[in-house]
Amino acid sequence: MNWEVVIGLEVHCQLRTRSKLFSNAPVSFGEEPNHAIAPLDIALPGTLPVLNGAAVELAIRAALATHCTVHERSIFARKNYFYPDLPKGYQISQYEEPLATGGYVDLEAIDGATRRVRLTRIHMEEDAGKSIHDGSSTDTLVDLNRAGVPLIEIVSEPDLRSAADAAEYLRALREIVRAVGASDADMEKGQFRCDANVSLRRQGEERFGTRTEIKNLNSFRFVEAAIHSEVRRQAAILESGGAIVQATMGYEPERDRTYTMRTKENADDYRYFPDPDLIPVLISAARIEQIRASLPELSAARTARFLAQYALAPKDAALLAPNAALAAWFEAAVRVHGNAKSVANWLLRDVLAALKEREAEIERVTLSPEAFGALVKLSDGGLVTAKNARTLLAEILWSGGDPAALIAERGLAAVSDPGALEAVADEVIGANEKAASAVRAGDAKSLNFLMGQVMRRTQGKADPAAIREILSRKLGG
Ligand code: ADP
Ligand code: MG
Repeated sequence: MNWEVVIGLEVHCQLRTRSKLFSNAPVSFGEEPNHAIAPLDIALPGTLPVLNGAAVELAIRAALATHCTVHERSIFARKNYFYPDLPKGYQISQYEEPLATGGYVDLEAIDGATRRVRLTRIHMEEDAGKSIHDGSSTDTLVDLNRAGVPLIEIVSEPDLRSAADAAEYLRALREIVRAVGASDADMEKGQFRCDANVSLRRQGEERFGTRTEIKNLNSFRFVEAAIHSEVRRQAAILESGGAIVQATMGYEPERDRTYTMRTKENADDYRYFPDPDLIPVLISAARIEQIRASLPELSAARTARFLAQYALAPKDAALLAPNAALAAWFEAAVRVHGNAKSVANWLLRDVLAALKEREAEIERVTLSPEAFGALVKLSDGGLVTAKNARTLLAEILWSGGDPAALIAERGLAAVSDPGALEAVADEVIGANEKAASAVRAGDAKSLNFLMGQVMRRTQGKADPAAIREILSRKLGG
C-alpha cells in the first residue's frame, strides 16, 4: 500500500554563550562532572535566575535568520516534571508567549526548485543535567554541568515528507545557526539534536495520521535510520488493520528499531505556568532591526543573488552559493575576470574536481582567487590555450603563483598572431598533400589530423578554434 510519510521536527540547539542561561556558571564540555555549576543550577534554596542577555541576542539572530517574527515581549514558563537530572523539579522554558513564531527554512533543490519548511516557533529554554547509568553498578549518577545551558527549541510544521527531507532540513538549519554565530551546532557534543514526529497517511488523504515522537536523535545518520524504522513499524501496524498509539519513542541503533518509552503525554501533564521569578523579556523593535542588520548574507539569499547578479544556471548557483567560503572565492575571481559564467565553469569543473580528489575544502587551496580569475581571463582572451591553462591550474592550485608570469616564463603564451598561424597552416598543408585533398573532398577526420599537426608545430600554444577556422578556410572544408 502507498503511505505518505509526514514529519515535523523539534530541534534543540545550544546557544554559543560563555555562561549559562540563568546563572554565571560556565558552559563547558568535557569538564569533570559537577564542576561547571552554580548554586542555581543545583537548585539550592534562595537562588534566583538572572537572564543571560547574550543568549537572548543569539536566539534572536537564529530567529531572524529563519525569517521568524521576533516578539517584542515574551515570557518564561515553568515546565514541571520530575527527573533526577532536573533538580528544580521544573525546566524553565517558554510556552504561551515564545520569543519567535512563524518563520521558514527553504531547501534548495539542485534543479533550482525550493521546498519551504515552515517553522511554528522558536523559544528559549534551559538544558537539563545528565543521568549516567554506567558509572556505577548500583546507582544512577547525576552530572549537572549541562543543567542550565542555554538552548533554543526550533519547532517545524509537519511539512517534511521523507527521512532524506528531514536530514536535508537539519543540514540547512545547522548551516544557518552556524552562519549567524548562534551556535556551533556540533552534533557530537550534543549541541544540535532533534525529536522527530512521524505519522503516515494514505496517498491523497488530507487528514494527518496519529503521530509518534522519537526522542533525542543526535546524528544525521540516526535521524534518517530512526525515521525509516518508525515508518516500517507504523506501516506494518496500519496494513494489518491496527491503529497507531500516540507515544514517545526511543531509537536503538544497535538493533535499528524504535521502541515505546511512554504513551500519551499532554501539555497538561507539565502544568505550565509563567515563572514568577522572571520578568517578561522585552526587546524593542529598534533593537530587533539592529540585530537583523548585523546578520551575514545567508545561503538562500546568496543563491538568489547569484542567479540574478551573475545569471548562473540554477544548478551552478546551488553548488557555489551555499558554501560561504567557496562563494567568496568565486566572487573574488569574478572581480578580476568579469565573465562570471566562465569563472563558474572553471571553478566547478577544475577546482571542485581537484578538491574532491583530495577531500579538501576551498580554504586549503593556495592559489589566490584573484590569480585564478586572471588565468581564466588569459584563457578566455586566447592568450593561452584552454588545455595549457588547465594543466597550469592543476599545478598552481596547491602551490600558488602568478599565471601571467608563469606562462611567459615557460613559453606557454598562445600563438595568436593570425599571420604566424597562417604560415604554419600553409607549411602543414604543403607537407601533407594527401590529407589536404581528403579534407577538400569533405573528410572531417583528415581535418582533425591537420589540426593536430599545426598544434604540434606550435607546441600546443595555438587556439584550436582559430586553427580550425584557418584550415577550413584554406581547404574549403
Ligand atoms: P508537542 O510535541 O509539544 O505535543 P505539537 O503538538 O505542537 O507539540 O507538535 C510538535 C511537533 O509535531 C511539530 O514539529 C509538528 O510539526 C509535529 N506534528 C504535529 N502533528 C503531526 C503529525 N500528524 N505527523 C507528524 N508530525 C506532526
Ligand atoms: Mg514534543
